[in-house]
Amino acid sequence: MARARTGDQALVREINLTVVLRALRERSPISRASLASLTGLNKATVSSLVEELIGAGLVIESGFPKAARVGRPGVLLELNPAAGCIFGVEIGVGFVSVIATDFAASVLWRGEENTRACRSQEVVIPRAIGMVREALARVSGSFPRVLGAGVGVAGLVDVSSGRVLFAPNLGWQDVPLREAFEAELDFPIYVDNEANMAALGETCFGVARGARSVLYVSAGVGLGGGIVLDGQLMSGAAGVTGEMGHMTMLPDGARCNCGNRGCWETLVSQNAVLRRVRELVSSGAGSLVADLARGEMEDLTIPQVVEAARAGDEVCRRALRETAEWLGIGIANLVNLLNPEVVVLGGILSLAGEFVMPVVERVVTERALRWPAESAKLLVAGYGPDAAVMGGVATVYERVLSNPGASLRARRASPPSHPPGRR
Ligand SMILES: [Zn+2]
Repeated sequence: MARARTGDQALVREINLTVVLRALRERSPISRASLASLTGLNKATVSSLVEELIGAGLVIESGFPKAARVGRPGVLLELNPAAGCIFGVEIGVGFVSVIATDFAASVLWRGEENTRACRSQEVVIPRAIGMVREALARVSGSFPRVLGAGVGVAGLVDVSSGRVLFAPNLGWQDVPLREAFEAELDFPIYVDNEANMAALGETCFGVARGARSVLYVSAGVGLGGGIVLDGQLMSGAAGVTGEMGHMTMLPDGARCNCGNRGCWETLVSQNAVLRRVRELVSSGAGSLVADLARGEMEDLTIPQVVEAARAGDEVCRRALRETAEWLGIGIANLVNLLNPEVVVLGGILSLAGEFVMPVVERVVTERALRWPAESAKLLVAGYGPDAAVMGGVATVYERVLSNPGASLRARRASPPSHPPGRR
């Protein structure tokens, strides 16, 4: 078939394929006729687009509707979970985490390795790639292709080049991370800041699913986040957005890792909570944490603080309350700025959601303008420690939906270098 097509026709078809895929994602199972009325495309066009998507293995026919109606019922369509496998990778502070999923984001394999002993890029990057290879060997045999890997890293990332510009908590500066993965792996690689990826993961598959504008705030070792506007992750002029933790809150406050003083992150992060607990304990307040941490207050963790708070410990409750006040102040500012539909609190502090969220809600109601405050739903992240890896999966998934042609032209899954073990 040597029929020439103009660039415009090819582009329109690509856009229409995306429209059909997104409708399938939101409404499946759905018939061709319902797809046509939902998208406004004519039935012949929908049929032709669906045939192409079925031929490419992205869509399957999944049976007939249960309730028989008058006339011939249309066969139902849905996205094919077996269309391809996806890898989500997180390079965090002290660990690397990898998951493999199908095209429906069901987790098929997961692994995590401790990298506390050495955070250097020469050690951490090959280990992360090795874990992806292991996942590939385990799952790729069941799929016609690998759709890609989304790699989230705890630092500033230039998304367009896939370079880590600065990751103070890893000690990395100007690291060509995507290039390193691409040199070893034969499928598309996407790199972004882990909190940006987590924002997309919660919007695509998690608690904010279906929302068009989402503010994701992740409070962990640092304080970061991601902003989804009109369904798309904001990427910014330099490819760096969501660095909300470095908003100045106290002009003469404590020195931050970024070099500034009084950043929001110095007031709200896991270290900010632990510092408040230690200060209260050393000023003589009695607390259960001294027992939980076996006297080693330097090794105190957020799960221990939450456990003590649940047992009624007033020191831990107060530390969480004070942290939540500052969290609420920053969120109120951002709610005024962005008018989001959903605000999601992620990161390890979300473990303390029952103590933190009521305070945040009160502060946002008190301080933000009434209209954006009333329209913002405040939720705790659904994925917990999996937020960034699921975000990596969401990044690949979104690329396939928005650019199906390129994803399908991507190479088929290479056979594993050694036979996968029996599952
Ligand atoms: Zn800062």
